[in-house]
Amino acid sequence: MKNIRNFCIIAHIDHGKSTLADRLLEFTGSVTDRESQAQLLDSMDLERERGITIKSHAIQMNYTYKGEEYVLNLIDTPGHVDFSYEVSRSIAACEGALLIVDAAQSIQAQTISNLYLALENDLEIIPVLNKVDLPSANIEVVTDDIVELLGCEIEDVIPASAKTGIGIEEILSAIIEKIPAPTGKIDAPLRALIFDSVYNPFRGVETYFRVINGSIKKGQHIKFVATGKDYFADEVGTLRLKQEPKKEICAGDVGYLITGIKEAREIKVGDTITDAKNPTTEAVAGFEDVKPMVFAGIYPVDTEDYEDLRSSMEKLQLNDASLVFIPESSAALGFGFRCGFLGMLHLEIIQERLEREFDMTVITTVPNVSYHAFTHKNPEVKILVNNPTDLPDPSSLNRVEEPYIKASIITKSDFVGSIMSLCIDKRGQITNQNYLTPERVELTFDMPLAEIVFDFYDRLKTVSKGYASFDYSPIGMRASKLVKVDVLLNGSIVDALSALLHADNAYDIGKKMCEKLRQLIPRQQFDIPIQAAIGAKIISRETVKALRKDVTAKCYGGDISRKRKLLEKQKKGKKRMRLVGNVEIPQEAFMAVLKLN
Ligand code: GDP
Ligand code: MG
Repeated sequence: MKNIRNFCIIAHIDHGKSTLADRLLEFTGSVTDRESQAQLLDSMDLERERGITIKSHAIQMNYTYKGEEYVLNLIDTPGHVDFSYEVSRSIAACEGALLIVDAAQSIQAQTISNLYLALENDLEIIPVLNKVDLPSANIEVVTDDIVELLGCEIEDVIPASAKTGIGIEEILSAIIEKIPAPTGKIDAPLRALIFDSVYNPFRGVETYFRVINGSIKKGQHIKFVATGKDYFADEVGTLRLKQEPKKEICAGDVGYLITGIKEAREIKVGDTITDAKNPTTEAVAGFEDVKPMVFAGIYPVDTEDYEDLRSSMEKLQLNDASLVFIPESSAALGFGFRCGFLGMLHLEIIQERLEREFDMTVITTVPNVSYHAFTHKNPEVKILVNNPTDLPDPSSLNRVEEPYIKASIITKSDFVGSIMSLCIDKRGQITNQNYLTPERVELTFDMPLAEIVFDFYDRLKTVSKGYASFDYSPIGMRASKLVKVDVLLNGSIVDALSALLHADNAYDIGKKMCEKLRQLIPRQQFDIPIQAAIGAKIISRETVKALRKDVTAKCYGGDISRKRKLLEKQKKGKKRMRLVGNVEIPQEAFMAVLKLN
């Protein structure tokens, strides 16, 4: 155990975690040149393309230092707020963390939020100043920022370049010298923390764990504490680039487990594995069921694809237990699913995976957060509102509550004014303003989560010229003035376009929605009135004018090849159109409310 080091890499997104992980693997000879490929740990295609790490992965390296052989377990963590629970579990499996800071970008919101998580778990922090090769690197200033943040010495900060390889050897020495070896009781009952799981279509669910006490053996009868289920350990092993089966994984070490479980839902990240007959009395602390934060409807473009969509979602869920869905139906869109996501990025990823991996073409409706509604009749009984149609009639409503978050924004002092007005516009209340350095400020707000779902990131980027980073955590439910805004096309309500909005914004957003829809809905043979309404009250109106006769006439003239081309073009355009009543609505229209500015 004294020659094991378990560590993770924490950083703000794009500061170089994955690239640094690649360099460490190369330097320790854990990969051959032939296996070497940019960002080895990001194994999903989608991860590679987007350059983000969606799921945490772990890998083991060997390294000889001062004549002694060491085992280094590296746990890669996702950097985006949508996946922060996974970050926290990975962190809990380690004794130390490399804190990567981009020498051109300095400290950002997730640098701080991840650092806090690491400090809460008593991790030894090794600060790394990455990207020193960049001409725009601000080495002295950013080193000072790090020293200030951590209260460490200038010499503790390792200058590095994950691109060119500067500092890699120093980082490895620091991992061995500074990060404590794991402590744990090898002869105590098994106690292991699940920090991740992955669904493999051939082998079932692979569980990644860190053994705290005891050991986990091939064939052992084991039990998961939170779910209460028991299994046999069909295979255990260590995670190299390929899995290496072992007879036993002992206290202090990291490994994988295969039990033949076929559903990702049976494994809960954060759960404790123990021996079925001789269980530990103490589960690993901090277990949480992950809760979806954002809900939206997903419908097949072609109503006949409903069953295909269901089976695709089920398969996707095997892989991503944080995706939840239940069937719902919409008068406009037919049968589909109400889905829960960890955040907006998660929603985008699921939609993209459905299209790429399952070849589905889907329509996603306006996302909303989860509200609690209470009626006069039963003011103590909470009604969950995950869908605009679930909101009880306004006359019967006693009150509504909405989820709030604590938002932390780090920016340059020049932008404080404009960011404050943005946050106030988003119903935020400033709770703290903390100068990290003379130029860098951390602003803290209490804000409704719903306001983040709508265009917040884009506007933050605009008002700060890109110099603001953002992080948030939930702080509970608070009273809200909520109304349902309906959209009528050609005089009938299109339920899939309804949105839940705060009363103060409803008129303004309703008006903008009508304007946006007028731009998005293609002109047809007849005028299409677009109206926004709260209950029976029309709050805004626009019209999509009918096509002029001579324009349509053109479509039917001309030679055959031109006509075919036109048809092809129409077909393509149709891909994401839904006919509702007699009006064709493109996919963009269902999300229009998100992109109003
Ligand atoms: P992650 O989001 O923290 O995993 O960051 P990545 O490892 O994906 O890196 C983000 C971007 O920064 C990529 O385009 C990398 O090629 C680049 N990058 C990472 N490290 C360095 C470095 O040391 N120097 C330079 N110039 N670019 C780097
Ligand atoms: Mg990455």
